[in-house]
Amino acid sequence: MSTVQAPISAAARSTRQWQEADSAHFMHPFTDHAGLARKGARIITRAENIYLWDSEGHKILDAMSGLWCVNVGYGQQALIDAAARQMKELPFYNAFFQTSTPPAIQLAELLAEVTPPQFSKVFFTSSGSEGNDTVVRMVRHYWASLGQPERQVIIGRKNGYHGSTMAGASLGGMSGMHAQGGLPIPGIVHIEQPHWFELGRGQSREDFGLTAARWLEAKILEIGPEKVAAFIGEPVQGAGGVIVPPSTYWPEIQRICDRYGILLVSDEVICGFGRTGQWFGCETMGTKPDLMTFAKGVTSGYIPLGGVMVSDKVAKVLIEQGGEFNHGFTYSGHPTACAVAVANIRLIQQLNLVNHVRQNIGPQLAAGFASLEDHPLVGETQTCGMMGALQLVKDKASGQPFDPALEVGMLCRAHCFGNGLIMRAVGDRMIVAPPLVMSRDQVDEMMALIRHCLDLSLSELK
Ligand code: PLP
Repeated sequence: MSTVQAPISAAARSTRQWQEADSAHFMHPFTDHAGLARKGARIITRAENIYLWDSEGHKILDAMSGLWCVNVGYGQQALIDAAARQMKELPFYNAFFQTSTPPAIQLAELLAEVTPPQFSKVFFTSSGSEGNDTVVRMVRHYWASLGQPERQVIIGRKNGYHGSTMAGASLGGMSGMHAQGGLPIPGIVHIEQPHWFELGRGQSREDFGLTAARWLEAKILEIGPEKVAAFIGEPVQGAGGVIVPPSTYWPEIQRICDRYGILLVSDEVICGFGRTGQWFGCETMGTKPDLMTFAKGVTSGYIPLGGVMVSDKVAKVLIEQGGEFNHGFTYSGHPTACAVAVANIRLIQQLNLVNHVRQNIGPQLAAGFASLEDHPLVGETQTCGMMGALQLVKDKASGQPFDPALEVGMLCRAHCFGNGLIMRAVGDRMIVAPPLVMSRDQVDEMMALIRHCLDLSLSELK
């Protein structure tokens, strides 16, 4: 047998050499490459539990779980073994042409077990974006199959995030994304987000929740209910800045969708698999979605996998009246990815992680964030399960923001990086979504680091 040259180890090159090769060849997602070339990428070389190490040997507490995905933490042997075993037995086969594979079938069964009762079927993709593209095609096909092809319009929200493909980025309401590439695609419109601190401070949170939900009703009436196919939202907006809606918001959205017979789509790419303290965010928010997109936490990010849970109501129409659904991906039901997902979900169950979030570390994170409200930079804190946000403001009393040119969020993020903590900045909103395996001591460790970095940011701003 010939020897195949595997990728070289991290130690085979210096940081500078890695950075030079990176800059010469690698175009990164959501990155200003001119800026990156000046600074050089930070090279992450290994990870264990909730910690990362970079090529300079620095240890970093990963309070973002990679990119909201490493729910079970790094280094879980059960996931590694599942991938190796499956790669040896059957690394790949497709699910087209009336074929299937045991890992994909097992994962479909397991998903039917852990998702809310209206779901017993799944359509697999490799990412959240592909999942949301599938949603667009599926809801339109559903309505056409029911003889209502004019129901085309899907309503999303400004500052929502549903991925980076043409349909995913269109469903999302990120103005920077819409400014490039002619988005949104036709038939997708947006309402304002339920962001109390930015849009609703004249009202109580509860009243604002109802106001924000009724923007959906106003939009439906403006378009004509007979033309609206679906509403899509993240239970808690993640990339938009961990915006936790008031408790009144989602029940009112559900009432409005029911009233006009519009499909409700819950994008659970971030909120799914325990992050909110229930298996899925819709359970925390009290909705009963017709479709549910997932990705990230389904494999804890160890390997790419996503999909759409299809409710029995929708599946019945698609199966009995829809004929062939002309849609799918080479990697829909990828056996190795599915094997890792099965191992990951079993591990979440074994470690009782959903209860751990709901009863232990979620309340601890909430108390820790609430205790930061005394900090001069912090105007608002919000948490939901293992997600948290700190809104940095110039003036606490009035909530007056900093001049955006000061880039206070980026300044704080740099202090976090410099002090062994990964925290993300969305404008001046500092956010975390730590691994669900965190111990109570590790939550304390993270909270101490956050306060220290806020103090350093404050001294720099004085
Ligand atoms: N939906 C939500 C809520 C997300 O947060 C993301 C990614 O962050 C996506 C969809 C897109 O997922 P992916 O990056 O796997 O395509």
